[in-house]
This record gives sequence, structure tokens and C-alpha cells, in this order.
Amino acid sequence: FNEVPTGYPIPGRTTVYDASQTIDLDCAPLDGGFLLKTLVLSIDPYMRGRMRDLSKTSYSAPYELGKPIFGFGVGVVLRSEHPTIKAGSHLYGIFLFQEYTIQSDAKWLEVVENKEKLPWSVYVGAAGMPGQTAYSAWKKFAQAKRGEIVFVTTGAGAVGSQVIQLAKRDGLRVIASAGSEDKVQFMKELGADVAFNYKTTNTLEVLQKEGPIDVYWDNVGGETLDAAFEAAAKHARFIECGMISSYNTAPYLLKNMMNVVSKEIKMSGFIVTSIFSEFKETFYTEIPAMLANGQLKYREDITRGLEHVGEAILAVLKGTNVGKSVIVVADH
Ligand code: NDP
Repeated sequence: FNEVPTGYPIPGRTTVYDASQTIDLDCAPLDGGFLLKTLVLSIDPYMRGRMRDLSKTSYSAPYELGKPIFGFGVGVVLRSEHPTIKAGSHLYGIFLFQEYTIQSDAKWLEVVENKEKLPWSVYVGAAGMPGQTAYSAWKKFAQAKRGEIVFVTTGAGAVGSQVIQLAKRDGLRVIASAGSEDKVQFMKELGADVAFNYKTTNTLEVLQKEGPIDVYWDNVGGETLDAAFEAAAKHARFIECGMISSYNTAPYLLKNMMNVVSKEIKMSGFIVTSIFSEFKETFYTEIPAMLANGQLKYREDITRGLEHVGEAILAVLKGTNVGKSVIVVADH
């Protein structure tokens, strides 16, 4: 992490790829820890929130200037002196954005069995944190009833694409938006009943024609949230997952919040790590198998090489990614 950005992060300036340090893979001392080889790294919108001044507080720890950034990943243990981490096992959790890391403890890591033989990238996507986000918050907050109407934003993305499919499985009518024609096509393939490009079509007009909406899955905040307030049904549930429209720019001032009172809307904000433990067992029993047998679809945007992390972060924040953004660092 090289510089705190003021707007969008700039590849090669906000973050830089530094190849100056090396590890002797055979001989580097482990001091009771283990040597981890990174296979895949997840690029997520929340990473922008970590790129802040150390004095500003938020739910996630900030990146430190001059130190590697970190995020979700999967890797394989090459050597180990650790009592419970075995060489050859695959670990999922928080990784430094490095090709190799010597770790003393496995506090933020867990072993992944991958019985379904899914590509490792799926374990940072539909079977990882974004999939967990969709699954646990949908189960906890949607209170979905067959025949109800849900509106899902960033419906072609890592979280939104899973929400669309969960909602269809529960028998809802799904309205979904995303920022390109290609993404609209993908959302239709996922089963969305109404899919539209919010850049070329007026969101409020669509919601007024196709609504009122009983559930709103909010990934964007801003003007779209204002439209959802206006098009909400009485007793609607708003699942406040993210507000990406203001991660890099000044926030939009909401005008229609009074609807929360008049329509008795229930808004549930959440952070996945706070709610996932309740759903962990059923998630891992159901979801990897459904991804492997095609019952649940996913789309990935794979970039090869740690040197491209800066561009991949910017792409997710600009919306030029098509599907779950993953950096493949090594194949095995
Ligand atoms: P995506 O794969 O959906 O990628 C981000 C997408 O956001 C882009 O592709 C783009 O899609 C859209 N986007 C970017 N800028 C804007 C903008 N200004 N206005 C509207 N849309 C924009 O990311 P994820 O699925 O990983 O994350 C989706 C949301 O979920 C984010 O808000 C994220 O912060 C949140 N999240 C929250 C979690 C929680 O615990 N609460 C956990 C994980 C994610 P498009 O082309 O459609 O504009």
C-alpha cells in the first residue's frame, strides 16, 4: 500500500507491485509456523474502505502504508512446523497479498477440503465470502414469501448474482439491475424476471411499473436507494449490504427516507462476519455441491498475476469487472 487515494485508487500509485523481497522456499526458517503458497486472491469492493488514513475509523482495519495489503485468499501449505497445520493442506481466509508467506499462526485461516473439486477461485467467490454474504443475509433478513417481489442491485456481481438465484429458489419475482447489456443478459440467465441496465434505463420508472417491491437487496445506496424507498410496498424489508455508489465519491443525500416511517420499512444493515457463523454449517453443506452440479451458477473475472492487483481493484470499483474478481497467483 503506497498512497491513500482521494477518489478512485490509481494502479501503480495507490498500490505498487514490489518484487524486491524473496523467500528461500526450501531453507527459510519457519520458527514453529508454516510456509504458505498463495493460489488465489479475492478483489472486493470493501478493500477501498481499508485504503484510508489511519486516523479514520471503520468496521475493517486500514491498510498500512509501506506494508502489503490483505484480503481473502486460498493457498497451499508447502512446509509446516505448526502443530495443527499440515503440509499439503489448503487454507482459506485472510492472506497477505504476497506470492509466499511464512505465518506463525492460523488465526484467520481454516482448512478447505473441497470435496467437490471446484476451482480454488470459487472458494473466494460463490463458495467464499461473497456467497456467504448472499446466503446468510438472505436467510436472516429477507423474510421472503413466495410470490413477493425483490429488487437486487449489482445483480451480475459476486453477491448480487447469488441473491438473484436464492430469491428465485424461494419463489419470488426478481427485478435486477446492473451496468451493462452483457450483465443484463447474464442476470436473465440467472432467472431474473426483469433485468435492466441502470445506466440507460430509469430505475424508478422500472420499479414503479414492476413493483411495488417487498424486498430490496441494496448493494449501491445513493439515488437507487432513494428510488427503492419510493417504490417500496408497505412493510418492505431493505437488506443494506453495501453502498458502492459512494465508496469513491461524495455521498448522495437521500430525499425519500420518510418512507421508512410511512411504509413501516424494516432496514437491516449487516457485516457478513457478524452473522455468518449461524449459517456456516448449512452453507458448506448446500452451496459447494450446488455450485459443482450447476444448480447454482456463477461467473468469474479472472486476472493472472499479483502485479495486476491495482487494475483489478479499480475495475471492481468502476464496474468494468464481469463477475467475481479473482487474482490467480499460482495454479497449484
Ligand atoms: P461486484 O462483483 O458486484 O462488483 C462491484 C460492482 O458494483 C461493479 O461491477 C459495478 O457493477 C457496481 N458498481 C460500481 N460502481 C457503482 C456505482 N457508482 N453505482 C452502482 N453500481 C456500481 O462486487 P461484490 O458482489 O463483491 O459486492 C457488491 C456489494 O456488496 C458491494 O457494495 C460490497 O461492498 C457489498 N458487500 C457487503 C458485505 C457485507 O458484509 N455487508 C460483504 C460483501 C460485499 P455494475 O456494472 O452493475 O455497475
